[in-house]
Amino acid sequence: MTIAVYPGSFDPVTLGHLDIIERASRVVDRLIVGVLNNSMKTPMFTVAERVELLKRVTGAIPNVEVRSFGGLLVDFAHETGASVIVRGLRAVTDFEYELQMSQTNRKIAPDVDTVFFTTNLEYAYLSSSIVKEVAMYEGNISEFVSPEVEQAIWEKIKSSEKKGSL
Ligand code: ADP
Repeated sequence: MTIAVYPGSFDPVTLGHLDIIERASRVVDRLIVGVLNNSMKTPMFTVAERVELLKRVTGAIPNVEVRSFGGLLVDFAHETGASVIVRGLRAVTDFEYELQMSQTNRKIAPDVDTVFFTTNLEYAYLSSSIVKEVAMYEGNISEFVSPEVEQAIWEKIKSSEKKGSL
């Protein structure tokens, strides 16, 4: 049985992430989406909220599970019994960092391999930060994220405006 982890910040999950999740879930037996509990300076969503949104948008895919994790990715992979790390590649700009990360991970955990999915051309430009940027200026984000995520973004922006933050 092949178990894979797909790590990321997912702040929030976009249709680009979802595309990778759907495709990866077809080639492995179990896919664990791991939300990194890191010290991202100004996340829009808490880790718990990001996990919740991911659970909602992946609910229909039976072999996908969503969890949060901290610390080293390879430790998370070992804990979950995963032998594969899934990452998405959008453009050449992703390449250098991803290459370095995958080589480092292989050095410290030779039993875990990284597999890259090249982005669907439709989502090649898409990132969580772009979605947040467009949303801040009340632009249309319906082609970037699922309806549940869109709703959560608008609610988050509304409540931050009330509090005077953002
Ligand atoms: P990170 O903070 O690790 O970059 P992200 O949440 O931005 O986490 O992304 C997680 C993974 O998903 C990364 O491998 C990233 O390259 C990939 N990814 C992000 N957006 C897209 C997209 N539009 N198409 C394909 N892969 C993507």
